[in-house]
Order: sequence, then C-alpha cells, then structure tokens
Amino acid sequence: MAEPQGLPGTVGFIGLGRMGEPMVRRLAAAGVTVRAFDAVARLHLAEVVTLVDEVAAVAEGAAVAEGAAVVILMLPDSNVVEAVVHGGDSETGLLDALAPGAVLVDMGSSEPLRTRALAAETAARDVVLVDAPVSGGVTGAESGTLTIMVGGPEETTAGLAPLLGVLGRVRRVGPVGAGHALKALNNLMSASHLLASSEALLAGQRFGLDPAAMLEAVNGSSGRSGSTENKWPNFVLPGTYNSGFALSLMLKDIRIALGLAEATGAPSAHTARTVELWAEASAALGPGADHTEIVRWLRSIGTGEGDS
Ligand code: NAD
Repeated sequence: MAEPQGLPGTVGFIGLGRMGEPMVRRLAAAGVTVRAFDAVARLHLAEVVTLVDEVAAVAEGAAVAEGAAVVILMLPDSNVVEAVVHGGDSETGLLDALAPGAVLVDMGSSEPLRTRALAAETAARDVVLVDAPVSGGVTGAESGTLTIMVGGPEETTAGLAPLLGVLGRVRRVGPVGAGHALKALNNLMSASHLLASSEALLAGQRFGLDPAAMLEAVNGSSGRSGSTENKWPNFVLPGTYNSGFALSLMLKDIRIALGLAEATGAPSAHTARTVELWAEASAALGPGADHTEIVRWLRSIGTGEGDS
C-alpha cells in the first residue's frame, strides 16, 4: 500500500452498477486512481470517466489488474464473479492478469461456499481473496456510510482498512466466506421484516388506520425495523419504489441464506416460507422490479389491485 494515507495508488474495479458507480466516485474523490470496467453499462462508464478524472476506463475486465495491488468486484452474484475471474473463450481471466501478492476483494453478495472454494484457487496463484459485502444501499454507497462485512485473513483485512474506510465502516467478521454468509443472513432478516411489517401495515390500512400514523407509532415501539424506519416512509408511502436494490438480488440473497440454514441443519421453516413468497412476488412483478415493490404485490392480493 502506498503512502501517505495508506491508500493504494491504483485500484482495479469491475461492476459499475447501482452500487459500483458511486463507490468508484468516492474512491476517485479520495485520490485513488481507478481502472474501471463494466461489461454492459458502457454509456454509464463513459459518464463516470468524464466526471471523475482519476477513473480510467479499460476495454476488458482483466485489464483492470494492470498496476493494481487491489482489485474490487461489485458484481451481481457468484456466477458472474467466477466468470470474470476465470475468463472465457475470448477473454483473459482476471486471475491470469493479477500480479502475485495482489488482493481481490469481492464486495458483491456472493455465495459463501463458492467464495471459499474460489479463495483456495486464488491462493494457489498467490492472490488473496477477501469477501467484503456491504449493507446500506445506494445511499450508503454515495455517502461512504456502508457497513462492510469482511471475511479474510486478519493481516490482509487490516491492510485494506484505509481503502475500505473510504466506502464505509469496516467490520471483520471471520475468515474468507464469513462476510458473504453474514450478508445473506442480514438480508434474510431484512426481507422477513419487510414482509412482516407490510402484511401488518396493510391489515391496519384495511381496518381503516392511516399508514403514516401507524409508522410513527410503530417506530417508537417494539415492532420497528429498517422496513418501518426507512423503506416504508421513503419508498413505499411516496409510491416511488426506487430504493435501488432489485427484487431479483434480494431473492438471490435469501436463497443463499436458506441454503446456509439447510446445510447447517438450523431451523428454517420461516426462512423457507419467506423465500417462497419473495419468489412469487418476483414472478408476478418481473425482472426489473425494485425489492420494495413486494408491497405492491402484497397489496394486490385479495383486491385485484397491484399497480398503485
Ligand atoms: P447492478 O445490477 O446495478 O450492477 C451490477 C453491474 O455488474 C452492472 O453494471 C453489470 O453490467 C455489471 N456486470 C454484469 N456482468 C458483468 C461482467 N461479466 N463483467 C463486468 N461487469 C458485469 O447491481 P447492484 O445493485 O450494484 O449490486 C451489486 C452487488 O451488490 C450484488 O451482489 C447485490 O446483491 C449487492 N448489493 C446491492 C445493494 C443495492 O442496494 N443495490 C446493496 C447491498 C448489496
């Protein structure tokens, strides 16, 4: 890591989506040179590059590794992470391009067991894989207030602290894979809270109660959660449903959590039903839905409505 602030001079970054783009902006604003790549969002990428001088767009994923001691991935899931790391017929794999001693940081919400397997593979090439998934959404990515759940060797995590500190609060939660496990479990709680609070609030509404008044009371009471304090007031009541976190990604995360519960023999009846309901909502709302739109789907049940 280069001096003066413990930040690496150059960082590679792959995945400039809803989360990745604001994260890259923050890194660039902190003085880090970012070599950035996104497979499909080329216009998006061009805009980031124009607005932030410290970002260099590269034409191929593996090219982000040039001169970079650290490469960050902010990709949808383990399938994409593995495809990028291994490369394909026409593309060099990132692992082939990384210098020995480099650190690869998967900040997306991937599958913990696949992360562990990938870490063993990268270790054989002298590349340390660290999982560092985040919570806090697009707003947290913009303001640098993400909660970052890190899994990996203590020494590597400590070395990454100044860099990750630009993006949020770093919490090392265990060895590699621990961050991805905890992130899936966090989202299971979040998805359960949103379902439970929405069923309760919709029942109250049909009974004649005012949702805003219910939220004000509940948020000073034991029923409160991130859903009643943030999602309902900011995305559901205004009818914008624009949290920036896709329903398909939430479904992916809670399926990971269910797999983890089943693999460990932990009780999972509630989790299994939660996954079923989110899957039904996903099928009904379609691929582009924001996760908060599950409330629109719930509202349609028993009324035939759904578009309000
Ligand atoms: P997104 O779909 O907006 O962005 C993903 C980006 O990856 C896209 O720009 C896409 O073009 C790019 N991509 C896909 N395949 C690629 C490839 N082969 N090579 C290069 N780029 C490729 O997703 P997001 O909302 O930014 O989420 C990213 C990750 O962070 C996911 O794992 C998600 O679960 C997690 N996450 C999201 C939020 C949120 O609020 N959006 C919050 C916490 C965690």
